[in-house]
Amino acid sequence: MDAAAFRQAGHELVDWIARYLEEAERYPVLSRVKPGEVRDAVPPAAPDAGEPWSAIRDDVERIVVPGLTHWNHPGFFAYFAISASGPGILADFLSAGFNAQGMLWRTSPAVTELEGAALGWLRRLLGLPDGFEGVIYDTASISTLHALAAARQAVPEVRERGLAGRPDLPAPRVYCSEHAHSSVDKAVMTLGLGHHGLRRIATDERFRMRPDALAGAIEEDRRNGMTPLAVVATVGTTAVTSVDPVPAIADVCARERLWLHVDAAYAGAAAMVPGHEETLAGCDRADSLVVNPHKWLFIPFDLSALYCRRMDRLEEAFSLTPDYLQSREPGGARNLMDTGVQLGRRFRALKLWMVLRYFGADGIRRRLAEHMRLARLFADWVDADGRFERLAPAPFSVVCFRANPAEPAGDLDDLNARLLDAVNATGEVFLSHTRLDGRFALRLAVGHIRTEERHVRRAWELLQEHLDRLHQGPRPA
Ligand SMILES: *Cc1c(COP(=O)(O)O)cnc(C)c1O
Repeated sequence: MDAAAFRQAGHELVDWIARYLEEAERYPVLSRVKPGEVRDAVPPAAPDAGEPWSAIRDDVERIVVPGLTHWNHPGFFAYFAISASGPGILADFLSAGFNAQGMLWRTSPAVTELEGAALGWLRRLLGLPDGFEGVIYDTASISTLHALAAARQAVPEVRERGLAGRPDLPAPRVYCSEHAHSSVDKAVMTLGLGHHGLRRIATDERFRMRPDALAGAIEEDRRNGMTPLAVVATVGTTAVTSVDPVPAIADVCARERLWLHVDAAYAGAAAMVPGHEETLAGCDRADSLVVNPHKWLFIPFDLSALYCRRMDRLEEAFSLTPDYLQSREPGGARNLMDTGVQLGRRFRALKLWMVLRYFGADGIRRRLAEHMRLARLFADWVDADGRFERLAPAPFSVVCFRANPAEPAGDLDDLNARLLDAVNATGEVFLSHTRLDGRFALRLAVGHIRTEERHVRRAWELLQEHLDRLHQGPRPA
């Protein structure tokens, strides 16, 4: 593809994306394809002869777009809504153009140094102290894996001898709440601690880890000859966005000499907003903390930031330099390959730097505050309507609720599951669900940069209309 062809295709593509974003509401949020439909539309083998760009582009519209669930739709309220902001898309485009690979400082000094600088900006915006150094990974799951790998360095000679076949080692344990993300399970399994190496701690009536239960579990495990290693506290749990009491958990960790990792993947961003600084209270005492700018900071997927006060531990766990990668850099420059499993890494910092500059801290704060206002508004509607009830506090931009009409026709879980399907089938909005205290809960998460009050209002109208319809309809067979 020569420069002229690239220029033409590129301009066209930018126009296409601009129109797609502008008209995202034209598409059904949730893809309507059946399993296998996209696969069957693609020939089983790659073409022998190259094809014209125009044919490829047309197939994007014909094959790919119908198979997309539109995360760019302002009616996307499922999971955690994420945003491909304009400056973020352009930054990723540019990053692909550079194709810079930041394994070593010298393989692109800008990748390493802009990462440090942009993570420093974000750290200050979140109110975390200088002692935290940052590193960018793809996802929170990988950030947490690395944090727990650093914590695992407390096991004697673990780097050299591993964990298997060592009768000298008492079983290591990691603790998190019942509501912690499954990425903690995957991390302990990957790190060779086994799933039994994770102990889940009971939560209180507001879904927060109980520090007394944590202390009790640690004491019991020590009595039984196990070795407590680390605690993962969550600020903004995935299902209900509850916040574990980090200050009290930090006390336990200090007393017991355990690594404290904070998973603030979604809610960490809220600490930027005036009036919400307390979101990360106590996190200055954590050993590591993960926040996902790709979740609620308008950075296109993917970009996760791990902050660590013991970067030396992380490097102890992973630095390993074959001869061909040995490099002596002036001034002790850092090589990002030493901070994790992967060797090569993309230039993700570019989008963090560009997005923070484009919106400015105030622009981001204003948008986050607006999302929280919209969630409160929705929560108020739920609270004021006798046919619905809220199932958890809504401290950020997520509301958990369910329909609970006076005389439900049949099982409430079933009614709510059918209500969710009906509302999602409209294509106008997409909500997801969770289970709280054994009950099927609907979940509305505001977080897309183009979501306005009218979209939240529409979600509420659809819920009411479809509840009327289902509730009056025949009982399920
Ligand atoms: C979303 C989420 C994760 C996982 O995020 P990925 O970046 O997709 O790995 C982990 N923890 C919490 C609390 C989350 O909300």
